[in-house]
Amino acid sequence: MASKIEIFDTTLRDGEQSPGVSLNSYEKLEIAKQLAKLQVDVIEAGFPIASNGDFNAVKTIAENVKGPVIAGLARANFKDIDRAAEAVKAAERPRIHTFIASSPIHMKYKLKMTPEQVLEAAVEAVKRAKSYVEDVEFSAEDASRSEVEFLCKLFSAAINAGATVINIPDTVGYATPEEFGSLVKTLRERVPEMDKVKISVHCHNDLGMAVANSLAAVQNGATQIECAVNGLGERAGNAALEEVVMALVTRKDLYNVDLNIDTKHIYRTSKLVSTLSGIYVQPNKAIVGANAFAHESGIHQHGVLSEKSTYEIMTPESIGLSSNRLVLGKLSGRHAFAQRLKEMGYELDDEELNKAFERFKDLADKKKEITDKDIEALVEDQVLKIPQLIVLEYFQTSSGNQTISTATVKVKIGEKSVEEASTGDGPIDATYRALERACNIDCKLVDYSIKSVSGGKDAMGEVIVKIEKDGKLFTGRGLSTDIIEASALAYTNALNKTLWNNGNGR
Ligand SMILES: [Zn+2]
Repeated sequence: MASKIEIFDTTLRDGEQSPGVSLNSYEKLEIAKQLAKLQVDVIEAGFPIASNGDFNAVKTIAENVKGPVIAGLARANFKDIDRAAEAVKAAERPRIHTFIASSPIHMKYKLKMTPEQVLEAAVEAVKRAKSYVEDVEFSAEDASRSEVEFLCKLFSAAINAGATVINIPDTVGYATPEEFGSLVKTLRERVPEMDKVKISVHCHNDLGMAVANSLAAVQNGATQIECAVNGLGERAGNAALEEVVMALVTRKDLYNVDLNIDTKHIYRTSKLVSTLSGIYVQPNKAIVGANAFAHESGIHQHGVLSEKSTYEIMTPESIGLSSNRLVLGKLSGRHAFAQRLKEMGYELDDEELNKAFERFKDLADKKKEITDKDIEALVEDQVLKIPQLIVLEYFQTSSGNQTISTATVKVKIGEKSVEEASTGDGPIDATYRALERACNIDCKLVDYSIKSVSGGKDAMGEVIVKIEKDGKLFTGRGLSTDIIEASALAYTNALNKTLWNNGNGR
């Protein structure tokens, strides 16, 4: 009989710790809802003690997302655990995930604790967590560089104190598959209590082996894999959820395990996370990259046309990419549009659908053929908008290689309209300066990127900007067939987020 592997998603915790990623609680909730559709077993929603924003995000997810276990992270101290317990309290199935470092180097230099003190803190932490929830996960941070003898003692003590899940992290991405698999095996052999609990692994990708290490662990008895969508996470990231899942599904002949995951939601989840985090997926990325199912060479194309399995080990449909290349246009009606959205996995209420259809019609006036990619971009842009306090009403720019660029913008802030002008280094810079003046917000642009959503001369441009205000990062997104307009909208979106943050956002 196939054994069951649980997928523990840490996109909202470890993934959110990726450099350059900053999600507000509204965006975290959207991702959590999508993860529930994907049917992950556990959502690690955040690190509640880290900030009020983190606490609120975990609490909101615990209150609103049904299905998966909702976990909150806590260091091995009472303050962290109490806060995590408070945050996950409302969940259907709450879990507290507590951790302490176990490697000589971490204990000595980071914790400045002796192994005995670490052991005691771990036991106390698990007991404290257990006083709040039934489901307690214990992690030995930097396990792959810890002494096996000590790990055995630590895990045995944690299980006896009430831990229901034992996590073995390769925190710094140092292990190799052979080594890591054998570590899992050794621990299972030497700690008899491990049979009673779930065995989890958490691998980082510093040497590009996170997925391979996770799979090696499965072959040696691990029953839970911690991973993140698009492989987000600290430094080089975590094991990529989509790769772990599709490897286990595609090679079921070898691994012989079952998963709860509904793989048809993989593509949409990846897209949502990439849009909200502002971190694009590389085209040649396994499973979800734009080229993952593209066959370029003539020989391959010929093969796939005569028999798909010649070069295709899994189908695009299995991750929710439709092969339906139906193109919509100006004459497409509301019904056809609604039908297409449904096929693409979007559930919009009537009001949202009306808005989306309006924008679709606007776009169809400017662009002849509207593809799935365009629709996807339109809908995501709309669904993911926080309340817009600042609305861009009008802009005009002038630029050239022999003249100084100027921009005039008019924005509506609440009830009042403000108009401002500025010069700048190019039309976009001038527009941004004018916007900052009009909104009277002092911030710094840290990143700007633009790409076209689909091909062709009339393609829509998608701009993602990251701005910094008071040490915090905000990501804005804008979409238009005019790249200066897309740039202005992205900046306005980011400015709106700074205002929202002052209210109740993060
Ligand atoms: Zn990690």
